[in-house]
Amino acid sequence: MKAYLNDGLVRLAEARVSIFDHGFLYGDGVYETMRVYDGVVFMLEEHLKRLSHSAAMILLDLPKTVDGLKSAIYDTLDANGFRDAYLRLAVTRGEGPIGLDPALCKRPTLVIYCDKLKPPPLSFKEQGMKLAIVNTKRNCKEALDPQIKSLNFLNNILAKAESLRAGADEGLMLNMEGHVAEGTTSNIFFVHGGALCTPASECGILKGITRDVVISIAGRLHMKLAEGKFTASQLLDASEAFVTSSIIEIMPVGKIGDARFKPGEVTKALMAEYAKEVQAYVKETKESGPSIWGAS
Ligand code: PMP
Repeated sequence: MKAYLNDGLVRLAEARVSIFDHGFLYGDGVYETMRVYDGVVFMLEEHLKRLSHSAAMILLDLPKTVDGLKSAIYDTLDANGFRDAYLRLAVTRGEGPIGLDPALCKRPTLVIYCDKLKPPPLSFKEQGMKLAIVNTKRNCKEALDPQIKSLNFLNNILAKAESLRAGADEGLMLNMEGHVAEGTTSNIFFVHGGALCTPASECGILKGITRDVVISIAGRLHMKLAEGKFTASQLLDASEAFVTSSIIEIMPVGKIGDARFKPGEVTKALMAEYAKEVQAYVKETKESGPSIWGAS
């Protein structure tokens, strides 16, 4: 297997980053996780747009243009021969002396890694994932804006560890005001009072790309959407709930603490439409030729 490191492909065993890389020293960097379907990176433009935004927010110049990153992504996929894959692209501040000044690092480090997709347990789709509302609060957006998809993931790691200790698959974080925010690597949706509800971005969440796709599908299906501030008790009172991410797509929630849910009609309708959306995207991307899907 091969990974892309800075200027080209290297064997995985030889892909090494310096102990002075500020990504390692301080979690100083940004990343994206993408899903590949039949050789096509789903929502590639949106992921690269978010990466550029994250990089700009931390005053980091990306080491390649968007087209250069696309080529590197597809080179990595081609080198590994994966059609359905998980793909992670990270850019760190780079190697430099100890110290927090971003100017200490002259050249960012680029790493692209892909692997075969491991399907989630069947029980997730059939019975739904188990969630736990954790005590760890989503870090407040005024301190570290969750729109920066940063390598500094301790907030989420602590929340995940807490959820695992509670016997759950995913931890759900509230924000400092006590409103529902998001999962450790997912956004949350639920059906309450006849509307499809999801925390608004001012709740301090990462605006997931899958979340945006779901919101646009819900619009097409004429579902009533409520983006807002919700309490945990409103969530626990929901008739159905699901979480979203690029990797798990739309995944029904079966339990939140002691509250139980069944994958309902809204969740099923959105899952079916999401699958169609992916198919259409892959078809269109392939038809529009190699320059758009990155091989140029
Ligand atoms: N929130 C957080 C904290 C995440 O890490 C992720 C996964 N990237 C998401 C939400 C879902 O985002 P997306 O749909 O873009 O994968």
